[in-house]
Amino acid sequence: MLTILSQNTADTNSFRAFTALRARYASWDEVLAAPSDELIEVIRPGGLAPTKAPRIQHVLAEVKEASHGTWDLSFLAGTPLREARDWLDALPGIGRKTAAIVLLFNFGRPALPVDTHVHRVATRLGMLPPRTPLERAHDLLEEVLQPDEVYPFHVELIRHGRDTCRAPRPICGLCPLTDVCAYFAQAQRGRLPIAPVPEPAPPGAEPRFHHELIHGWAPPE
Ligand code: SF4
Repeated sequence: MLTILSQNTADTNSFRAFTALRARYASWDEVLAAPSDELIEVIRPGGLAPTKAPRIQHVLAEVKEASHGTWDLSFLAGTPLREARDWLDALPGIGRKTAAIVLLFNFGRPALPVDTHVHRVATRLGMLPPRTPLERAHDLLEEVLQPDEVYPFHVELIRHGRDTCRAPRPICGLCPLTDVCAYFAQAQRGRLPIAPVPEPAPPGAEPRFHHELIHGWAPPE
């Protein structure tokens, strides 16, 4: 439910909506049985409440039926991966990325969520052809990753995309991947923009870039 509430919404707002939902209703049965108008008001802090409330109730109805009333989705842990993904993907408001998030983070399945950061960094590195549709990107990246690489790949590309390989201009001067990066090769020929290296982090501050984490601050020669 938190995943649905978080769609197109800042994390703080989706957590407020989820907290309000849990405070108002004692069980998923109560959420499912709640009048639609009431549920909309409860989750309004999360934004898009008129869309998300019926979506939540529809998903709850499907989950209740599939779990024979137990609300236990652990059958997804033992179902073949494609079958589990297709079942989630068919739920209203649950796309390929959300299905992969549920499978990876709740059940440890090797399903790769491709968000905007993963898509951008993988494209710049040359792992995806330019303008690959999101759905296709999931398939192409999962094909080249070993199952135990899926989780770290997802987490590290998001971190790298937020901190260093930013949109619209990456800070390639702080990146350890320049030797293997298709974008950087183009940027070296003046065909693509890169951002200047920012000022060093103050002493004692949290590392902000992969370069700081790996090498300490000084950029490579
Ligand atoms: S070299 Fe630049 S474009 Fe390539 S992955 Fe690193 S930061 Fe991104």
